Amino acid sequence: MLAVVGGGISGIAAALELLEKGISPDELMLVEAQDSMGGKIRSIEMAGKRVEAGPDAFLTRTTAPADLATRVGLGDELVRPRSFSAAIWARGKQYPSPEGIMLGVPVSVGQFVRTSAVLSPLGRLRALLDVVLPKTPLAGDATISHLVRSRFGREVDEVLVDPMVGGINAGSTTVLGLRAVAPQLLEAYKNSGARSLARSLVAVVPPRPQPGARTIPFASFATGLDTLVRASEEYLAARGVRILKGARAETISNGRGGLTLQLAGSGRKRGERIALAGVILAIPAPSAAALLSEAARSASAKLERIDYADVAMTVMRYPKSAFAEPLRGSGLLVPRRFGHLVTAVTFASRKWEHLDLPDSELLRVSAGRFGDRRFAHMDDTTLQREIAAELTELMDLRQGPAEATTWRWQGALPQYRPFHMELVASIRGDLAETGAVELCGAAYDGVGVPACIASGTEAAKRLASRLTG
Ligand SMILES: Cc1cc2nc3c(=O)[nH]c(=O)nc-3n(C[C@H](O)[C@H](O)[C@H](O)COP(=O)(O)OP(=O)(O)OC[C@H]3O[C@@H](n4cnc5c(N)ncnc54)[C@H](O)[C@@H]3O)c2cc1C
Repeated sequence: MLAVVGGGISGIAAALELLEKGISPDELMLVEAQDSMGGKIRSIEMAGKRVEAGPDAFLTRTTAPADLATRVGLGDELVRPRSFSAAIWARGKQYPSPEGIMLGVPVSVGQFVRTSAVLSPLGRLRALLDVVLPKTPLAGDATISHLVRSRFGREVDEVLVDPMVGGINAGSTTVLGLRAVAPQLLEAYKNSGARSLARSLVAVVPPRPQPGARTIPFASFATGLDTLVRASEEYLAARGVRILKGARAETISNGRGGLTLQLAGSGRKRGERIALAGVILAIPAPSAAALLSEAARSASAKLERIDYADVAMTVMRYPKSAFAEPLRGSGLLVPRRFGHLVTAVTFASRKWEHLDLPDSELLRVSAGRFGDRRFAHMDDTTLQREIAAELTELMDLRQGPAEATTWRWQGALPQYRPFHMELVASIRGDLAETGAVELCGAAYDGVGVPACIASGTEAAKRLASRLTG
């Protein structure tokens, strides 16, 4: 028997690929601790619409999500956002994102300085020093802040790069590593003879899209991103894969008889013990660490070093009359330096045509990031009240929300520190000695949905080739 532990998108992709590689469905099981599949992918109902409490879109630069959709029988259901430009809140009001940037980092310094009203005059002047300061030495890897601050100063990092790049990971650029999170910056700077980071980036900036070209490289499903999860689950079940929901994997032991998976349970209802020929762990690093604490101590200890940020996603419906001016763009980023609970707002009903409502707007409001768990000490009512009060200030609202729902993600997003990839390689190296145990998912090879699908697919390929080769 082969087991995939974790029914998030990584585990789903792994199970699908094992079938593709010829593993018999009778020999395959998928074990998920929750009562439903999908992990962080969670679409919830509001005002008759399916709104996302987890990811709300995936990048379409790779075909991994579309390929998976096709494999499970989904066709043309993909929809694209109609807007993808977030404003930035700073010093009492919203500013448009400056021009001439990549990942929040200036590429064209002249264009950037002319359009960066979001920065203070001193912050703009400091950014100009990038072109004259001596080259920043980088040994192997460093935090994103280390490079950005040395070139453009603290304000560019805190007001632009941290909300844009750190925001994707609910992290902080003072913690996140260049190589794993922003490899474009590191590679471009290392490979360039220029001391200026902006000049180094010019060579790698994607070409300007042709006018009229599809410029928004994101997609989702009008029926909710969990459409992909439901279709995959049906596909696996229809082929006879054993899907165990509400079943938490507790330990993996590696004795003389080979690998054994113990499911949770207590007393006389002791969980099932399953002998395995191989297993793919598609679960967050702390869960994997606990599961492997007996069978692979060294890997388990290393897995514990991967930190996570917690996030609360509050979906709110506001009457249109609450807005002094019609909403424009796809959202608002709120830099950490101003001390708000709210980290970002997606204008869901502006961003997605299928979420249009005649009299209301739907907002997705994020709170919480690495190092800021204030929301965790508030119950839902208090959190929603605090958020509504902040939105009144941030967005100049005239009324409170008509309804709100909060979804809490403990262990929402892993934090890739410098040398993360070396850590992951070392964990996988330890596991290679243990036998047929593979790791995949957001903790290792990228946090975005496409990266998770690729990670699950690759883990399945490795396991299948180990078992058959
Ligand atoms: C709020 C939020 C917004 C995001 N926005 C985006 C976005 O817009 N675009 C994007 O591309 N990505 C986004 N992401 C990231 C992306 O959604 C996740 O990284 C990805 O979905 C993780 O998938 P996964 O399968 O690796 O892990 P998970 O989804 O965490 O799945 C792991 C599964 O394993 C199960 N599990 C854990 N332990 C055990 C155990 N012992 N036994 C059995 N089962 C277990 C869990 O219950 C869970 O279902 C967002 C994430 C969050 C939290």
